Amino acid sequence: MGRAAKALIDLAAIRTNYLYAKSLAGGARAVAVIKADAYGHGAARVAQAIEPGVDAFGVACIEEALELRAGGIQKPVLLLEGFFSPDELPIIAEKNFWIAIHSREQIAQLSAAELPAPVTIWLKMDSGMHRLGLAAQHYRQAYQQLRALAQVKEIVLMSHLACADELNSPHAQAQIDCFDYTTAGLQAPHSLANSPATLGWEGLHRQWIRPGLMLYGASPFAKAHPAASALLPAMSLVSEVIAVRDLAPGEAVGYAASFVCQRPMRVGTVAMGYGDGYSRHGGTGTPVLVAGCRTQVIGRVSMDMCSVDLTHIPAAGLGSPVEFWGTGLSINEVASHCETIPYTLLTGVTRRVVRVYQDS
Ligand SMILES: *Cc1c(COP(=O)(O)O)cnc(C)c1O
Repeated sequence: MGRAAKALIDLAAIRTNYLYAKSLAGGARAVAVIKADAYGHGAARVAQAIEPGVDAFGVACIEEALELRAGGIQKPVLLLEGFFSPDELPIIAEKNFWIAIHSREQIAQLSAAELPAPVTIWLKMDSGMHRLGLAAQHYRQAYQQLRALAQVKEIVLMSHLACADELNSPHAQAQIDCFDYTTAGLQAPHSLANSPATLGWEGLHRQWIRPGLMLYGASPFAKAHPAASALLPAMSLVSEVIAVRDLAPGEAVGYAASFVCQRPMRVGTVAMGYGDGYSRHGGTGTPVLVAGCRTQVIGRVSMDMCSVDLTHIPAAGLGSPVEFWGTGLSINEVASHCETIPYTLLTGVTRRVVRVYQDS
């Protein structure tokens, strides 16, 4: 019943991808990063499905962390950007959230807080991305200061790389060197690896990895990479053909009449548009599967619909299933056609698209 635009979500695939990330990283523990509603997959559902095997979860803010606790999740939840205001601190301590600390202001606020229990800190260094983190020259002092605080339980040393998706990147190497030089001799676990570093940089696994995108089966690399090819896609974005027409040469399809048939064509209209999160940059030429056969989007993507070429798929017609990405069509390939990355496609799937969960 109803509109056929759906995101089919394979929870078992996410579980398998998490275990795969851990297997790549030897004995390291892994924060399953499920911020931004688990990259569009539904944070509470994903967390519930994978919680038994997971060491900790990672989110962007306390609102996301509280949503997990409301969903019954008991494992530690790391706030990757820490707290935004000090009134979050008592809740953080009470709910067993872990927090990144990225500035001296946050350290001052933590040291002034009265907490019901001490908190685990991930002390973030700005090793060269220049987004969040303490500058290297302030890092050791911050560490010693935190060590002495009654509010602090354990400390993990963390940093984030700007170019881990470029294997052999000198920028990444400079960040790693900065981190290792600055943390030399400190007795605490390290965490440096996001998905690209987990897949492509063995020396960065250390004690805690932080995989996000790879859990959902997409590759963080622009080019094919052997370690990424083993990932299982977790989301299939699907819909159905809701109208079919036969068009003559010279007839146009869609807004701005930007696509004009050069030959007789059979065209399907599909219930999927940018109002569902399908990229408007995915116009003419973007690959799509109709009834399992590869074809292409033609014309502009509208808010609720788009058009696909059925000319060479005679078996396709009203009601035929359409896959925009997923198990049969790599989201990386679609993203490159849309001049974007899988991260934006996955997090962009809107509320209107019904998530249908399966677990095996
Ligand atoms: C989002 C995020 C990750 C996960 O990154 P992916 O590239 O999706 O694996 C890891 N660490 C931090 C600090 C993050 O913000």
